[in-house]
Amino acid sequence: MTKSEFQKEDIFPIGEENTGFAQYFTGKSYLAGLVPQPIPIANVTFEPGCRNNWHIHHGGGQILLCTAGRGYYQEWGKPARELHPGDVVNIPPEVKHWHGAAPDSWFSHIAISVPAENGSCEWLEPVTADYENLK
Ligand code: MN
Repeated sequence: MTKSEFQKEDIFPIGEENTGFAQYFTGKSYLAGLVPQPIPIANVTFEPGCRNNWHIHHGGGQILLCTAGRGYYQEWGKPARELHPGDVVNIPPEVKHWHGAAPDSWFSHIAISVPAENGSCEWLEPVTADYENLK
């Protein structure tokens, strides 16, 4: 499936290739900013097999609203959780995790950054062994 074919399944714009954060992703992702302020909200789309590195939201967490395709969310030391449209993930601050597409499916989620004073994201290592056995 191409990006334009997947756009027909996604009710929000897929936007442009997410080059600004590409160094923290395996595979290609796309970013469409929806609301810049007072609460940053964006639609993030992952091509099949794409996922972000392990990372930690410091200060404020992150809320994911799954909108299209099939993907995963995993917290360090726990099994991966499969995600489908309508699923909600409430990621607390200070929890090491990743999110992204299934190996054979595009995936989109709305990402809401929980505001915090001096909030930041700490990017860590790519997801390798934990991804290998996912369907
Ligand atoms: Mn995150």
